[in-house]
Amino acid sequence: MFEFVADPGNRHIYTLLMNRVRETGRSVNFSFRCDAPDLRRFMQMEIGALSNGGLAFVSRTVREETRKSIALLDSESPRSDELLGICSWCKKVRLDEADEWVEVEDAIKHLNLFESTLLPQLSHGVCPECYESALKAEGV
Ligand SMILES: [Zn+2]
Repeated sequence: MFEFVADPGNRHIYTLLMNRVRETGRSVNFSFRCDAPDLRRFMQMEIGALSNGGLAFVSRTVREETRKSIALLDSESPRSDELLGICSWCKKVRLDEADEWVEVEDAIKHLNLFESTLLPQLSHGVCPECYESALKAEGV
């Protein structure tokens, strides 16, 4: 899960959620994606309060879908200096024009990122939709 706390937006959300669990003593849970190049992995995370004042993070896989391997998500692929925003939570990619976030497959088509070109580096952040839903994460 420490992939999530790498950037300020994600750190902010985690801090809010952890504070809420500590203050209310109630768990929160939310969905996120933990994809591999050839796999869409739909996950669920629960943050709960422990009796000793600590917090428990439990994540489980809800379902997996295989797909044709995506070079953009393969850390072995050579990269240019360009940066492309990706949401750590839902794995959507940001299209610059209208702050629009789309599935990685759509972004590759839209941005003409074919596997023969040098791919941009991925910059992890959080999309507006995930930011909103994290703030509304319900207790269980
Ligand atoms: Zn997102």
